[in-house]
Amino acid sequence: WRLLLCAGTGCIASGGAPVVAALREVVEERGMSNQVAIVLTGCHGFCEQGPIVVVEPGNTFYRRVSAADVRDIVDTHLIGGQKVDRLLYRLPGGEAVASYPEIPFYARQHRIVLANCGHINPEDLGEYLARQGYRGFLKALAMERAAVIAEVKRSGLRGRGGAGFLTGQKWEFTADAPGEEKYIVCNADEGDPGAFMDRSVLEGDPHAVLEGMLVAGYAIGAREGYIYVRAEYPLAIRRLRTAIAQAEACGLLGENILASGFSFRVYVKAGAGAFVCGEETALLTSIEGNRGMPRVRPPYPAVKGLWSKPTNINNVETLANIPHILRRGADWYAAMGVGRSKGSKVFALTGKVNNTGLVEVPMGLSLREIIFAIGGGIQGGKAFKAVQIGGPSGGCLPESLLDTPVDYESLLEAGAMVGSGGLVVMDESTCMVDIARYFLNFTQQESCGKCAPCREGTKRMLEIVTRITEGEGRLEDLEALEKLAAVIKDTSLCGLGQSAPNPVLTTLRYFRDEYEAHIHDQR
Ligand code: SF4
Repeated sequence: WRLLLCAGTGCIASGGAPVVAALREVVEERGMSNQVAIVLTGCHGFCEQGPIVVVEPGNTFYRRVSAADVRDIVDTHLIGGQKVDRLLYRLPGGEAVASYPEIPFYARQHRIVLANCGHINPEDLGEYLARQGYRGFLKALAMERAAVIAEVKRSGLRGRGGAGFLTGQKWEFTADAPGEEKYIVCNADEGDPGAFMDRSVLEGDPHAVLEGMLVAGYAIGAREGYIYVRAEYPLAIRRLRTAIAQAEACGLLGENILASGFSFRVYVKAGAGAFVCGEETALLTSIEGNRGMPRVRPPYPAVKGLWSKPTNINNVETLANIPHILRRGADWYAAMGVGRSKGSKVFALTGKVNNTGLVEVPMGLSLREIIFAIGGGIQGGKAFKAVQIGGPSGGCLPESLLDTPVDYESLLEAGAMVGSGGLVVMDESTCMVDIARYFLNFTQQESCGKCAPCREGTKRMLEIVTRITEGEGRLEDLEALEKLAAVIKDTSLCGLGQSAPNPVLTTLRYFRDEYEAHIHDQR
C-alpha cells in the first residue's frame, strides 16, 4: 500500500500533522510497516476538503480526515478491503465518489504543472526521477542552445506571472544580449491576496522548478540562478533548499554537469514580503542587497539586469512548464489552449465558492466552467455576483461575463487580466465598492513611494472611495476617480501603479449602480 498524505501548508493548517503521526502509530501497531509506505506529498489542490489522504492502489480519496479516523482507514480499508464510506467525497445529491479522478473538482482539470503535486514526496529526488524528472533537461542538453529556445518559442508558452510575454522570446533576448556573465532568476515572490499557486508548486514539486531553471540556464548561457521566494513561505524555502542539495549531490547542479561542459548553480534568496518586489526590477534590486524599488526601463533586465548583467526572469509556474515542453515537445503543448494563449493555467480559486483550492485548466475554459463545474458553485446556494481575477492588478467581472474564455486577450478586453492566477469569487451579499476599497487599500499600502502618480494618486483615490463607502460621497467623485485612474495608469513607473486603479475601474464599469446607491442612500 501507498498512502499519500498531503503535507502542504493548506492541509497542515487544517490539522494534517496529527493525522500523519496517528497513521505512523497505527501502521506500526498493526505490524504493517513493511507493507505500507506513508508518503508525505505536496498540495492535492482540493484544500477545502483537507486534510486529505489518498490510498493507492485504487486512488481512493479520503477527505477531512482526523487522527481519530486513521484506525478506520487501516483496519477497514487496508486490512478489511472495504472503503471507509463516511470519509469519501460526496456529490451534491449525497452519492459517494471513491476514486480521485472521478471527483468533479478534478475531472475537468488538465494537470501539467500540478501533475506531481500530491503524488510524490517532494523531498525525494528518486520519486521525481521515477516520473520522468530531469528528462526534459537531458533532452535539452543534447540540443543546440538555439534549438532549445526555438522549441520553447514554438510551444507558445507565455509568462504566467502576469504580463504574458512570450517566454521563448524573452530567453532569446537574454541569450542574444552581449556579455559572458548572465543570470536566470525565478520570481517566487507571490503576493496577490488569495493566490497560492507558486507556493504549492514549490512545496509539492520543487525539482520541476529547478529543472526549468537548468533548461533556461543552458539555453541562454547562464551559470547561476536565483530563486527569490517570500520569507512567508518557510516550507517552500526548506523544500527548495533540500531539492538543491539533492540535485548538487547527484551532479545535476554544479560544475560540468553530467560531463556536458555546462555548469549551473542555484541560490535561494528570501524576500521580506514587500509586494512591489514581485516587479522584476525591484526584485533584482532586492537580490543585490538594496531596498526593493523598481528601476526605470529601458534598459530591460534582458540587457542590464542583476548586477547589470543580462538576466532572464520567469515566474515559478512558467519554469515548471518547461520540463514538460522539452520532454513532450512544443507541438504537444501548443495543441492545448486557444488563440495566442497556449497550454494550461493554474488558478487559486477562493472566496464564496464551494470548492476552494488550486485548479489547473486548459487556457480558454470559461469562467463559468471554472467557478461552477469545478468550483461547485456558490456557497450556501446564494447567487453569484462577481469574480476578481488577476489579483489587485486585475478586475472584477460580473455575471454577464461568466462565459468569457480565460485567456490573456479576452480578459484584457473585459478590463481584467490573467495575472498570476488568483480568482476570488463573490456572492450577492458582497458590496463591490468595499471590494474596490480593499484592493486599492492593498496597493496603496504596498506602493513603494518612488513615483508621485502612484504614491499620491492611489492615496487620493482611496480617500474618495472611502468617503463613498462612509456615506459622504458625491456624484462628481465618480468622474474624479476615473480621471485620476487614467493619469495613474498612464504615468506610474511600474506595473503596480499602472494597474492599481483596475479594481476601481472595473467596479465602476460593471457595478456603477452600487457606487451611486452609496451616494444616493445617504441623502
Ligand atoms: Fe513605486 Fe508605485 Fe512608482 Fe511602482 S508605480 S515605482 S510601486 S511608487
